[in-house]
Amino acid sequence: MERNLPYRDYNSYLRELFGCRVHKITIDAGMTCPNRDGTKGFGGCIYCNARGSGTGQWALGKSIRQQLEEAKPYLKKRFKAEKFLAYFQSYSNTYAPLERLKALYEEALSVEDVVGLTIGTRPDCVSSEVLDYLAQLSNDYYVCLEYGLQSAHDSTLRLINRGHDVQTFVEAVKETRSRNIPVCVHVIIGLPGESEEDMLDTARFLAKLDIQAVKIHLLYVVKGTMLEKWYLEGKYRCLSREDYVRIVSHFIALLPPSIVIQRLTGDPHPEELVAPQWALEKQQNLQAIINYMKNNDLTQGSLLVENSGTS
Ligand code: SF4
Repeated sequence: MERNLPYRDYNSYLRELFGCRVHKITIDAGMTCPNRDGTKGFGGCIYCNARGSGTGQWALGKSIRQQLEEAKPYLKKRFKAEKFLAYFQSYSNTYAPLERLKALYEEALSVEDVVGLTIGTRPDCVSSEVLDYLAQLSNDYYVCLEYGLQSAHDSTLRLINRGHDVQTFVEAVKETRSRNIPVCVHVIIGLPGESEEDMLDTARFLAKLDIQAVKIHLLYVVKGTMLEKWYLEGKYRCLSREDYVRIVSHFIALLPPSIVIQRLTGDPHPEELVAPQWALEKQQNLQAIINYMKNNDLTQGSLLVENSGTS
């Protein structure tokens, strides 16, 4: 663990794996999502705007290679990164014909010093043929699939208009792990209708699954979303920083120590953010979580015994 952190951090994990500093480069591959194109529902998840958390690079005409090559010099200088992972982030990056996906992934892997792929997608967007292809690729490269789950409660998934249920996620994880591909799960803290215990139940649920990493996001309100409407009408209240820090700290303590914690905060675009404003203070938020865990004798997995005894 880096800097004596009370959880298993991603940078240390990548250093153990590759023996040097490895940095992700976020890629926008011009994809879409079945929850935005009308296949699954209308208008997407309530917190998602039309950009689908993308960088907009594809719309500017930048190829995968260009996006990677442009990011490398800065990351080498700023973080002393030696190798890179191409992170297909925007929208659902397995939601396209296999031939198109192959071309995109292989273009990324042909770039010098790119040692692997991390692919963000929905659990209802992975076919056996895509998984078989990725399993083959993972013989030569690091390949990780990142599934958005957000909550382990079907009632919440319905409320936020996810367009898939928890069981679909469980099956996707099973299929992915049967091919030995690592899985990272995205969850959101502060979803409407959830109590603190509901959020911690998601950690208890994940603790029982064969997953390798977790990304914990804060729910923040972005312009142009259904959530913004709810917020402005007083139907949704954001978490306070104090609440978020406490919930995330307990969430981590409920996860097995083997799971890599890839993210602990949100990362809103300042010009798109409606609330809460404290979400912009990423470093302070991260430090507040570390401090809370240390001050309360919490470490990753320290509440696991309690978890298995009560569930
Ligand atoms: S799955 Fe992702 S891209 Fe699709 S609507 Fe939800 S947040 Fe947006």
